[in-house]
Amino acid sequence: MACILETENLTKEYGSKTAVRDVNMHIGEGRIYGLIGRNGAGKTTIMRMISGLATPTRGSYSLFGKTGPEKGKMLRQVGVLIESPGIYPRLSAQDNLKIKCLALGVDARREVPALLKTVGLGDVSPKQKAGAFSLGMRQRLGIALALAGRPKLLVLDEPINGLDPQGIVEVRETLVRLRNEQGVSIMISSHILDELSRVADDYGIINDGELLDEFTSAELHLRSGKSVMIRADRPEEVLRLLEKMGLHGEAAEDRAWIRVRDGLDRTGDMTRAIVEAGIPLHELYLRSVSLEDYYLGVTGGHQTHPASPEDVHPDVKGGKPNA
Ligand code: ATP
Repeated sequence: MACILETENLTKEYGSKTAVRDVNMHIGEGRIYGLIGRNGAGKTTIMRMISGLATPTRGSYSLFGKTGPEKGKMLRQVGVLIESPGIYPRLSAQDNLKIKCLALGVDARREVPALLKTVGLGDVSPKQKAGAFSLGMRQRLGIALALAGRPKLLVLDEPINGLDPQGIVEVRETLVRLRNEQGVSIMISSHILDELSRVADDYGIINDGELLDEFTSAELHLRSGKSVMIRADRPEEVLRLLEKMGLHGEAAEDRAWIRVRDGLDRTGDMTRAIVEAGIPLHELYLRSVSLEDYYLGVTGGHQTHPASPEDVHPDVKGGKPNA
């Protein structure tokens, strides 16, 4: 896989604060790269640096294989949507795009209809002002603006934040279409890991400014296979019972949950053994590990966003699940 972006010890300091530290990241051609991390982890700072909007304190990166002054020219091949899109609310989508095309020296007459079509706004009336758009439409107009000049790499910071389910689907379909039909590489950050896992081919996990892990979706499936989850009283006794059965259980730090990675076909035996030993068993089930679970394992349980009651996951000790 050819890398279109590679960073080497990329670091950004703001005074005494290190926002990004020694990041070595790789984005493959025609791939969607999901950047994951909680608030303040350093995602936006990385995106700003690789888009030429911020200067690294240390380290470097190559774009399309180029470094140094040659890389500067390559920045034209990078389309950026960081924070809210710079849209003129009193103008139509068409006029917003026309202005962007003019600024880039691109033929607006040819490009604007194509851009609108790409993001699914082909049918929007030129009379409709962008200020009256739904959030989803605005976000797609933002993506269209980032796509003006036909960049080969699109950098999108939280593009689905605040969108309703319909808007999320529209943005997802737009991104997949861009990758599949135009071979655009896309770097996208999102707090919504379930959604990210529907589009991303590769992932990077960033925590406190450091890239903790980088993996493909195929690797994620391999690493995060199924396991049996057990919630019972007297966990130490359960662990001993499992051991007698030739199985290896791992207890969560607070002992609330035990995870068993082997013996997926022996849930019946496990249930029987625990019940026959007179240990109150509250739950025993087969669980697949999601991107969110994997992320929590790698970062030691930091949520990508403040925890809500629905977000409680059994935080099983032991770093990468099945890594
Ligand atoms: P969020 O999802 O909240 O945007 P993030 O992962 O994008 O988070 P960054 O915005 O990259 O995180 O911020 C990383 C760290 O750097 C934070 O602690 C932030 O406060 C700090 N930071 C970012 N920009 C600046 C700046 N211009 N001056 C000082 N500190 C900054």
